[in-house]
Amino acid sequence: GSTIGILGGGQLGRMLALAAAPLGYKTHVYAPDRESVAAEVAAQHSQAAWDDEPRLAAFAAACDAVTIEFENVPVDTVRFLSGHVAVRPGAAALEVAQDRLAEKRFVAGLGGRTAPFAAVPDRGALDAALAQIGAPAILKTARMGYDGKGQARIAAPADADAAWEAIGRHPAILEGFVTFAHEFSVLLARGIDGETRFWDSPVNVHEGGILATSSLPPPRSVLDQQDAARALMTRIADALDYVGVLTGEFFATDEGPVFNEMAPRVHNSGHWTIEGATTSQFANHIRAVAGLPLGDTATLALPVTMRNLIGRAIDDIPALLADDAARVHHYGKSVVRDGRKLGHVTWVGTAPEGPL
Ligand code: ATP
Ligand code: MG
Ligand code: MG
Repeated sequence: GSTIGILGGGQLGRMLALAAAPLGYKTHVYAPDRESVAAEVAAQHSQAAWDDEPRLAAFAAACDAVTIEFENVPVDTVRFLSGHVAVRPGAAALEVAQDRLAEKRFVAGLGGRTAPFAAVPDRGALDAALAQIGAPAILKTARMGYDGKGQARIAAPADADAAWEAIGRHPAILEGFVTFAHEFSVLLARGIDGETRFWDSPVNVHEGGILATSSLPPPRSVLDQQDAARALMTRIADALDYVGVLTGEFFATDEGPVFNEMAPRVHNSGHWTIEGATTSQFANHIRAVAGLPLGDTATLALPVTMRNLIGRAIDDIPALLADDAARVHHYGKSVVRDGRKLGHVTWVGTAPEGPL
């Protein structure tokens, strides 16, 4: 049989493994973490460090193609594997997406609109950056941030010291604060032949820096900006010779779509496609990585609502299971922590009862 290798052990890998099975693919998860919810549903599991070359070589030999479910896999690991097996997407996409500065420069170079930004390699550079960008602004670590971690808001220049301490004094980027009506994402899949397809864009609502809900149809302002945002994502994917699902996060502003960041992988804002689209983001990602034709991305019914189960919200699952319209996903993580994504629930063709 054929095997797809997955780098990373989180819920995205778990949902990729679940989508691979009906296509006839086994999965082999490679992740250093002791707990891997992806490995629980994969045929094989290597729990080993990212720089363990003998284990990586054995993993590569066991796989027909390899993909990532976590964008911070070291680029050196992907380069090493690429000498043994096809890794999709490749090191170029990871290299850009791992560094907010490289990413914004790359996208600006392709004609995309971003927030005004400046490099902040050290504390001294922050004052100069603030003079250039102005306040309010957001200071973000250049690397490794997710779910709003590694970010500090700067309302006035006097906040600079506190912000620099808050992000741990790491090399950073300063971004001007964007005034937006809504946030939305572009979910793109690109095959090995370059064919590109899109799912409908959901509107995304964050709470405390973490994605809370993704819903369709999005408001008019998002629908009006979807085509321009898609055109930019196509240029990005083509420039990287990208294979797989690529996600772009955007702000809908009065001046048009502003690119926030991208994820070189399946994305939380695309979880609704499992029940809400003809082919899910996970199935199309596996198809692309395996070199198979992409499937139809049409939305099956509106409205669609996806709500994350974060921290103790996982306790809502018994009540959600009593809702015949709710499609419940429990990631099987053993540690419940505030702010941790532990599951999600989707409604397709009907709105959830009560407040979101
Ligand atoms: P993710 O979990 O999506 O990877 P992240 O930690 O990489 O998140 P961002 O997406 O950069 O962080 O920021 C998190 C949220 O903070 C955004 O979705 C948006 O709501 C807000 N935000 C980020 N940058 C800006 C900005 N320049 N102006 C206004 N709001 C912003
Ligand atoms: Mg991010
Ligand atoms: Mg984000």
